[in-house]
Amino acid sequence: MIIYGSKAVHLKSEQSKTSICPNCDTQGSLVLSVYRKHAHIFWTPLFPLGKKGMSHCQHCQEVVEAKKLQEPIKGEYEALKNEAKGPLWQFAGLALIAVFISFISIESGKNEKLKVQYFSSPQIGDRYHYKDDIGSYSTLIITSISHDSIFFSPNEYVINKVSQIYKIDKPENYSEMSFGLSKLNVKKMIDSGDIFNVKRD
Ligand SMILES: [Zn+2]
Repeated sequence: MIIYGSKAVHLKSEQSKTSICPNCDTQGSLVLSVYRKHAHIFWTPLFPLGKKGMSHCQHCQEVVEAKKLQEPIKGEYEALKNEAKGPLWQFAGLALIAVFISFISIESGKNEKLKVQYFSSPQIGDRYHYKDDIGSYSTLIITSISHDSIFFSPNEYVINKVSQIYKIDKPENYSEMSFGLSKLNVKKMIDSGDIFNVKRD
């Protein structure tokens, strides 16, 4: 099983009426062919890698690679190569990657909007992700909200990797105690990035 590599797609062939085979001296026996290679991975073409080609004598069967062709056959081959267009599907992988990247950026834009919305209208049960002074991460859960303050129960666990913070965000990890912070202070912590994420079920 080949997972990645390159493949060549036939683009165009043309019989040369005037040229003479350098091997058997037959006139009009040469067929010029142009191919375009593309890189592929998991059976998906990624992007083109350039054209290659050859001449094939229908009389003596000799095949000469494009780079070894002599004038004037070489000139004929170059002309054919220039007018041979490769298929768009050879770019399929690049197109897929572009779609994937724009999907990711749309999704992260949505998340960013949701975050701003949740921070501006806190609800009981929201969990705030924060960074502590020594570079560890943990969470707080909102237990009540008053006119000017938000009350939180702290998570009793901390974790070193921000990407694993979801592992400690479990109901049984939250302390029975709670403490209040003024809404102004909470906003400052959000603006400074000490509180950097919010989750709502
Ligand atoms: Zn020949």
